[in-house]
Amino acid sequence: MARHRSPGGQDTSPALDKAHAGAVLRVRGAHRIPAPSSALRGKVVVAAVAAGAFAAAAAGQTIKSDSDSSSDNHAGVTPLASSHDANAAMGVGGNDTTTMASSRILPADQSTNASAEVQKLAETTQITADRQAREAEAARKAAAEAARPKFVVPAEGTFTSGFGARWGTSHMGIDIANAIGTPIVAAADGVVLEVGPASGFGNWVRIQHDDGTVTVYGHISSYSVSEGERVKAGDEIAAMGNEGQSTGPHLHFEVWQGEGGEKIDPAGWLAEHGLSV
Ligand SMILES: [Zn+2]
Repeated sequence: MARHRSPGGQDTSPALDKAHAGAVLRVRGAHRIPAPSSALRGKVVVAAVAAGAFAAAAAGQTIKSDSDSSSDNHAGVTPLASSHDANAAMGVGGNDTTTMASSRILPADQSTNASAEVQKLAETTQITADRQAREAEAARKAAAEAARPKFVVPAEGTFTSGFGARWGTSHMGIDIANAIGTPIVAAADGVVLEVGPASGFGNWVRIQHDDGTVTVYGHISSYSVSEGERVKAGDEIAAMGNEGQSTGPHLHFEVWQGEGGEKIDPAGWLAEHGLSV
């Protein structure tokens, strides 16, 4: 029959057909080797796969040759059987008891670890939240500290007298007049040096600031701090009064600067810190 002949086909050379037949026969011959010992099985599997691949290639070549030729020299060859044998041999390698044991143990470990991991994650999340809360609080305090005024005018009221010569003497401070009881506040951060009566001042409060400057608050009707107390700018320290040599309720405010406690113009000192009276 000529059903396999291609339109312009030519007969394959006898030498090539013989080579194909020899290749297939060698592959089939390999499968007749007695079953190897288990120790060698792995190597044999590799060899079988290689042989199977070779057989498949040879089979393709053989079939192609058949379709190109009217010859039926290869009618008895069944190369696909060789591939089937190779696949079966590969199956041996997958049936490994060690692999199966591992796959049973692994999920159990993951389950145990997952519980611990969840607990650890919860703790870590809580620690992170606590840390973030502390950082937020610290940041809020830092922002408030940065934003608060470091110098303030010590009392609200009317500027009634400046620093310098007055009535034939020297007025060593400034006067701010307001009602008795008007709050008097620390002009800057510092430590209370002294509270109580002082000649000419009635009662006073003196505060030493961080740079050594001392501020003095005189004629007060009362005070609300004690010696050694740390105060911040704006903290209420006393109430306005009319004590001592005073012609009306007011705050007499002085600034002493330097080691000798030189009395300087408080208005100028406040102005250096952006304040006016
Ligand atoms: Zn005064």
